[in-house]
Amino acid sequence: MVVSGRHPATGESVAVRVGNGSIERVEPAAEAAERYISPGWIDIQVNGFAGVDYNRADTPLNEIARSIEAQRETGVTRFYPTVITGSRENMLGSLRNLAKAKRTLDDGRAMPGFHVEGPWISPFDGPRGAHPKEHVRAPSIDEYRRFQDAAEGQVRLVTLSPEHEGACPVIERMADDGVAVAIGHTNAGAKAIADAVRAGATISTHLGNGAHAQVPRHDNYITHQLACDALYASLIVDGIHLPPAWVKVALRAKGVAKAILVTDAVAPARCPPGIYRLGCLEVELLPDRRVELTDTRRLAGSALSMDCGVGNAMRFAGVSLFDATRLATVNPAAAVGLRERQGYLEPGQAADFTIFRLDPGGAVMVERAVLAA
Ligand SMILES: [Zn+2]
Repeated sequence: MVVSGRHPATGESVAVRVGNGSIERVEPAAEAAERYISPGWIDIQVNGFAGVDYNRADTPLNEIARSIEAQRETGVTRFYPTVITGSRENMLGSLRNLAKAKRTLDDGRAMPGFHVEGPWISPFDGPRGAHPKEHVRAPSIDEYRRFQDAAEGQVRLVTLSPEHEGACPVIERMADDGVAVAIGHTNAGAKAIADAVRAGATISTHLGNGAHAQVPRHDNYITHQLACDALYASLIVDGIHLPPAWVKVALRAKGVAKAILVTDAVAPARCPPGIYRLGCLEVELLPDRRVELTDTRRLAGSALSMDCGVGNAMRFAGVSLFDATRLATVNPAAAVGLRERQGYLEPGQAADFTIFRLDPGGAVMVERAVLAA
């Protein structure tokens, strides 16, 4: 199989030769292409999509298959279904259901692993975000083992707050297992953040969100994470969670190589406005695309899709098309250790691609996404 398109770095047309599910050669194409080709987009934080909620033990597998297809229409070939803070029973049940989906669905390999966000987060209003307070608890290796058992070993990313005493041994244990550890929904001070990084944390989850509305202007957990070169930062670039100027500043502080686009999408993404579920929570998608808890009106995930995220990154931060696609491909792959996806259209890498064009207004229009067998 040969897939061709313009390389976002050079604008030159390339033909990518594929065999056995990986890239064999990349060579100049005989004919000039109009569309672009990039590695398939990766989203490391998806709670649900197209009306399908991953935070339930009983979500039918054919519905999960449909949501994978719907994400592919937005350019995403690989994603990490994300299970958030809930009762132990619900979290384990959701992970079991996802593990079954990964094992049995034809498209199961679109889920290289699972993201567990919580329940080991800050109990405080603000940093806790929309996560239910009654289920927030301290990190434990015993509970980590239970998550992995339920997930058939597929938990590859965990978001926690290092403000809990005893967080570091749990971080060390997960890092030893090759699980990426992210700091998020945190009220941690400088020392706790530095200790977490020393213990093996490598990512800040949706930096700038899951935070107090007001923080001390200099000495705060956002600045300390922005300044930490060891941490990747994932960002929700929907124009709702973060203002454009903040996205620009964060990208410059981190550098393009250490930033990641995530959607943090919830079930109503790609759906009409209305009431939906996120695990045990009730959320509403409003006509302006905000997703809020129906009781407290806090933001509860997004209705963003990655095609909009890539376009917004260019518009908000002035990054090139190539850099915008790095934020959704090689960077998340490096952050979570997805080895076969860390090179940008390089031989030996997994053959998944996103084919898209740029409309004159700068919007990214996905034509198709391919996950070659
Ligand atoms: Zn979150």
